Amino acid sequence: MSSTADTFPLQTKPTSGKPESFRILKNYVDGNWVSSHATEYLPVMNPSVGLQIAEVPLSTSKDVDDAVRAAEQAFRSWSTMPIKERAQVFYRYKALLEKNAQVLAELVHEENGKTMSEAMAEVEKSIEVTEFACSMPQLASGEILEVSRGVECRIDRYPLGVVATITPFNFPNMVPNWTIPNALVLGNTMILKPSEQVPLSSSMIAELLKEAGLPAGVFNIVNGSQAVVEAMCDHPGIQAISFVGSTRVAKIVYTRATSHLKRALCLGGAKNHLIVLPDASEDMTASNVAASMSGCAGQRCMAASAMIAVGNVDRIIQKLCDEARKIVPGRNLGAVISKKAKERIEGYITEAERQGAKVLVDGRKAVVEGKENGYYVGPTVIDYVLPEMRIAQEEVFGPVLSIIRAKNVDEAIKIENNSPYGNAASVFTQSGGMARYVIEHASAGMIGVNIGVPVPREPFSFGGWNDSKFGSGDITGKSSIEFFTKLKKTTTKWNPESKVNWMS
Ligand code: NAD
Repeated sequence: MSSTADTFPLQTKPTSGKPESFRILKNYVDGNWVSSHATEYLPVMNPSVGLQIAEVPLSTSKDVDDAVRAAEQAFRSWSTMPIKERAQVFYRYKALLEKNAQVLAELVHEENGKTMSEAMAEVEKSIEVTEFACSMPQLASGEILEVSRGVECRIDRYPLGVVATITPFNFPNMVPNWTIPNALVLGNTMILKPSEQVPLSSSMIAELLKEAGLPAGVFNIVNGSQAVVEAMCDHPGIQAISFVGSTRVAKIVYTRATSHLKRALCLGGAKNHLIVLPDASEDMTASNVAASMSGCAGQRCMAASAMIAVGNVDRIIQKLCDEARKIVPGRNLGAVISKKAKERIEGYITEAERQGAKVLVDGRKAVVEGKENGYYVGPTVIDYVLPEMRIAQEEVFGPVLSIIRAKNVDEAIKIENNSPYGNAASVFTQSGGMARYVIEHASAGMIGVNIGVPVPREPFSFGGWNDSKFGSGDITGKSSIEFFTKLKKTTTKWNPESKVNWMS
């Protein structure tokens, strides 16, 4: 197959709805769409209908070399531009995200399969993180103090250089934007490797950054999969790697990047527990838990995966099942990413059932009329799951909720603590004391009280604990400033008295 395909056809695709208008994706290097050195390609599918919409090249280390060269070249002038000028590009980028929100959401919906309202929410979050990045001149301004007579110490933040960012399939627009605005406003240049399953949104992000006035080479895209990531980890010209994806790959990337003495922050998978106490508000808990387990078809690292039912909460479970039945594939529930994912998710349900768990709401074999080839799993609620079952331990990443019964809150916390993950945990209760107890004892980086998806909003940072994150600090918010900059400490003496030392 030829790699000299047409340029990414932004103008035609998002509005025309003609999948055949897509060709082979190109990489974006030095402000240009360039053909990859790839000899292999993967299909990009529309999961809602099971149709191919594009082809993505599996780029090589040579493509990474080209992108690093462009990013290194661009770094020289971009990093020395005053931060307030760099922020101006992102004020314009934010306006372009707002102007193009509908088209961006359509693209997310098309390549990922989530509903339009979920896709729009994702774009809105991208707008929020860009707004935060525009406040970097105020937040990253350094420090200065006269530490002794005529002697001052100052701290200035410097960008790292070329940074690489690797993203997963479940938020094609938002997760790239978790790092792009912050890292670039802080003066770094970047190479993005988007998920090969959803590479189209990133191409449109590149177009909007260009339109916003970002200089050539500051932002680059190398499409592909494992080989590109390995080349990024090994490349001496890349100073830092941020990664978001599964725990298995996060560990590989963290180990490989740090073995090359790079700064790395790798966010992994999740198994989030919602602890429901008997005094919880019934209606609010039922609707929150149902929304958390089914939103984005359960394909989000903040989704409720296990509900720990403490004592008798049967009325809440009943209402939760009623809520789940209102969630209909193809209407208010999107597709899962692939046929393989659908089979994997249904396999977990069937195995749990065989092991004695009780399927209260069954989403297996979901078919949407008119979209018979789409990859749908209906909302699924399974009761009497035991902590030792595979479905209770592993990340299912589908609209499936396991209910695990516990006698008291300490038993619930023990179950939550035993999970190797630690992204999020929530408690549903009317008691401030019990909520406080769970906040203190849950082993997770993001805690919710009466909230099913406890995502911190900017300027608060996003990041889990344990096997849900490797590396220090968080990926967004103020914490990202530490990751994307290094400190220069300068001590200056302007005291003319010759015998006075800097300690005096
Ligand atoms: P994934 O780990 O399969 O892929 C993530 C990225 O790694 C992709 O760009 C992929 O091309 C690359 N990759 C895959 N295998 C690789 C290998 N062997 N070596 C190097 N790179 C490799 O994840 P996914 O299936 O795309 O995304 C879903 C996962 O992401 C879930 O586990 C989810 O919980 C997690 N996730 C976590 C967060 C978070 O904030 N913690 C956010 C979103 C998604």
